Amino acid sequence: MKHYKIAVLAGDGIGPEITREALKVLKLIEERNDVSFELMPAAFGACAYFATGDAFPQATIDICDQADAILKGPIGLSHEESKKIPIDKQPERGALLPMRRRYNTYANFRPVSLPKALAHFSPLKAEIIGEGIDLVIVRELVGGLYFGQKESGINEQGLRYVKETLEYDELQIRRIMHQAFKLASKRRKLLHNIHKSNVLKSSVLWNEVMEEVAVEYPDVTVYNMLVDSAATALCLNPTQFDVMVMENMFGDILSDQGGGILGSLGLMPSACIGDDKAYYEPSHGSAPDIAGKNIANPYSMIGSVAMMLENSFDMADEAKNVWAAMQAVFSDGYSTADLSKAGSGVTMISTEQFGDKVVEKLKAMPKVS
Ligand code: NAD
Repeated sequence: MKHYKIAVLAGDGIGPEITREALKVLKLIEERNDVSFELMPAAFGACAYFATGDAFPQATIDICDQADAILKGPIGLSHEESKKIPIDKQPERGALLPMRRRYNTYANFRPVSLPKALAHFSPLKAEIIGEGIDLVIVRELVGGLYFGQKESGINEQGLRYVKETLEYDELQIRRIMHQAFKLASKRRKLLHNIHKSNVLKSSVLWNEVMEEVAVEYPDVTVYNMLVDSAATALCLNPTQFDVMVMENMFGDILSDQGGGILGSLGLMPSACIGDDKAYYEPSHGSAPDIAGKNIANPYSMIGSVAMMLENSFDMADEAKNVWAAMQAVFSDGYSTADLSKAGSGVTMISTEQFGDKVVEKLKAMPKVS
C-alpha cells in the first residue's frame, strides 16, 4: 500500500469549511484505493499569526518540509481586519510568498473549465460559451513584481515613495515555458503567450525566451497576445484559448477573471508545482464576506485535491472520478449560492451538502484498479 503525508493548512475565512469537505473526499479515496494518507494539520495565515505571532510558524514549516504534498486553504482577512497585523507579517507577505519561495513552486496551473451543460452558471451568453470553456492558465509563481526588491520611505523632495522591482532571468522564464509547452502538447496544441512587450522590457525578454523554447515544440502553435487585449478576449471569446502562459502578476489577475467568466471563484482550484514539492490551493481568497455561513463553494478545494491526486500521487483516474463526481452534483440540478440566484430553477445546497453529495457520487463510481 502506498502511504503519503499531506500537510493540511486549512487557512482563514472559508478555508476551514471548504477544507473539511475536501478531507471527506480524500477519506473516501483512501477507502476506495490501495493508499493511505497521513494528514498533518498545521496553522497557516492570519490564524497562525494570532496564535503564534507568525503567519508561517516554524512548526508549520517543519510539517510542510516532511510532507509529500501540501493542501492549502485560502488565507487572509478583510481589508479592515488586516490592519490588525503588521504589514510584513500579513498572510500573503508573511506566509504565502515565503512558502512559494521556500519550495520554489514556480509553476501554477489554474484550470478554467465549464462544460456546456453548466453554461447557465456563467454570466456570459450561451453562444459565447459554445461547447464549453476549457482552458488552463499557466502562471509563473515565484518571480516578477511580487518577489522583487521593495523599498519605501521619504524621498529627497520629502514625499513618501515606494519602489518595487520587476525582475526575471532567462532561467525562470525558460522553465515555466517548458511547463506550458508540455501541457499544450498534451492538449489542443495551442499556446497563447500573454505579455506586455509594447511597454515592459521584462516582456521583451519573456517573448525572446518563449521563441527559443518554442523551437523544441514544433507541434504547438503559438499566439502572442497583449495582456490587456487578453482580458477582453477572455470575456468575448474564451473558447479560442486552451493553454495561456504568463508572468506572475498577469496570472494573478487574469485567473480571477477566469473565475468571473465561469460564474464564481469557487470554481477555481489550482496546483503550484516546484521541482521537489507541490502545494494545492484554491485560486481565490478567504472570502471573509461569506465565512462561517456554510455557503461557500468547496469545488475549488475538492478540485485542488483532484489536482494533488494526479500530480503528486499518480492517481489520474481517481482524479477524473472526483471531477466527474462534482459535475454530476451540478448536473443533478444542485448549486451553491455563489453560482445561482434563488428561484433560478436549481436546488440550493450548502458547503456541507455539496461535499456530502460529491462523496455519494464518488462512492457510486467504479473503483480504479
Ligand atoms: P476572495 O477571493 O476571497 O473573494 C472574492 C469574492 O469571491 C467574494 O465575494 C467571495 O465571497 C467570493 N468567493 C471566493 N471564493 C468563494 C467560494 N469558494 N465560494 C463562494 N464564493 C467565493 O477575494 P478578496 O475578498 O479580495 O480577498 C479576501 C482575502 O483573501 C484577502 O485577505 C486576500 O488578501 C486573501 N487572498 C488570499 C489568497 C490565497 O490564499 N492564495 C488569494 C487571494 C486573496
